[in-house]
Amino acid sequence: MSPAPVKEKKPVIKDDSMWLQKELISRNYHELAAAHTQGKKISATFVPGNLNELLMCFDFVRRLPETDALQSGLRKKSGKMIMDAERDGHSEDVCTYVKTDLGMMLQGETGPTGEPMPRPDVLLLSYTGCFTFMKWFELVRQKYDCETVMLHVPYQGDGRISPAMRDYVVKQLREKVIPTLERVSGVKFDIDRLRQYLKESQKAEEDLVQVLQSAKRRPSPIDGYFGAVYYIGPIFTAFRGDPEATRYYQLLRKEIEERIQAGKGPVTPEGDHPGEKYRLVVEGPPNWTSFRDFWKMFYDEGAVVVASTYSKVGGVYDFGFRHDASRPLESLAEYCLGCYTNLNFPQRIDMICRYLDEYQADGLLINSIKSCNSFSAGQLLILREVEKRTGKPAAFIESDLVDPRYFSAANIKNRLESYFQMIKQKRMAAAA
Ligand code: SF4
Repeated sequence: MSPAPVKEKKPVIKDDSMWLQKELISRNYHELAAAHTQGKKISATFVPGNLNELLMCFDFVRRLPETDALQSGLRKKSGKMIMDAERDGHSEDVCTYVKTDLGMMLQGETGPTGEPMPRPDVLLLSYTGCFTFMKWFELVRQKYDCETVMLHVPYQGDGRISPAMRDYVVKQLREKVIPTLERVSGVKFDIDRLRQYLKESQKAEEDLVQVLQSAKRRPSPIDGYFGAVYYIGPIFTAFRGDPEATRYYQLLRKEIEERIQAGKGPVTPEGDHPGEKYRLVVEGPPNWTSFRDFWKMFYDEGAVVVASTYSKVGGVYDFGFRHDASRPLESLAEYCLGCYTNLNFPQRIDMICRYLDEYQADGLLINSIKSCNSFSAGQLLILREVEKRTGKPAAFIESDLVDPRYFSAANIKNRLESYFQMIKQKRMAAAA
């Protein structure tokens, strides 16, 4: 019997902004690898509530453990790391970002690009609604015995940020976080330096919002989930506040404006989108280990995601928030308080209903992540409430972030096909 033919994948099509982003990410991994030999200090912090501009004021080289895990997932390295962490005693139900990080440490501290990933000098735990963050850094601290500073961000239980909540965060920044960062880095805090970075952040945030909101057009020139993962990369990680990130967003905005002029749909790994048949809103993070195959399932059906909640996980900018250089610490506090993970259920439901309406979407799709309790908790409630309020169909699929054992392509494809059928029938019923 002759062997089954090996399916060749087409080379991925990338815009200039994607290459620039790739360059920024590789540069950061080089800097991390060389940091200690060059006498630089390393910070680690999480994506939601990351205080990147503040960390830059102390010359830290910046690590974001979730990004390291997802980069390992994209490179198909996370499966082994997760199994190593499980063999070391971490249960199957633990967030797979955590196990990828722990497995990476067990495997000799080599990062996703194959370069060394040295121990952090400080863990900045900005706590914005995910309990796992706390346990994750507890484990890292146990391993490295490094300095840890926690910023407690009050949850928006009542769906609003009160002045007392903001002042409480600012007080911690002044009295605890900044003095710790000064001590670990040996660099004195300079508020004007912070203001300068915040000005850069604001410019980048404005361009990002224009890009994300371009999906309100028909056809949408972007994919607001799969494509947006690239667009949020620099601003949600080690680059917000860096003039290089500002340049990235200028370039990206220009590219999207050109697509609008040309009447083009989103760029995808397969090339330009063939034409939008379905417009969706997606809740929940994507799967990284089969990212391209996952995206292709939508591409093959002519589906475009016009808005997603995941593209707001490192900052909700589309409802008006911008970092503000004239109120540096207050705006850092408001940024943390307003993170998606810190919003209560009614706020998340309102946000999704607003997206469905403003982006003229056909329906909501939830990708429920097996090991992400922070996103998954309450998703069925969200689904039912959104369906009730909008009358638009919603569907549920399940996968995982970086654990390849929990990506079942056949199941997801079946679910998607029946979901698109459901949308078609709804349309036909409405037209009758
Ligand atoms: S549980 Fe979810 S939100 Fe929390 S760290 Fe893991 S992936 Fe992130």
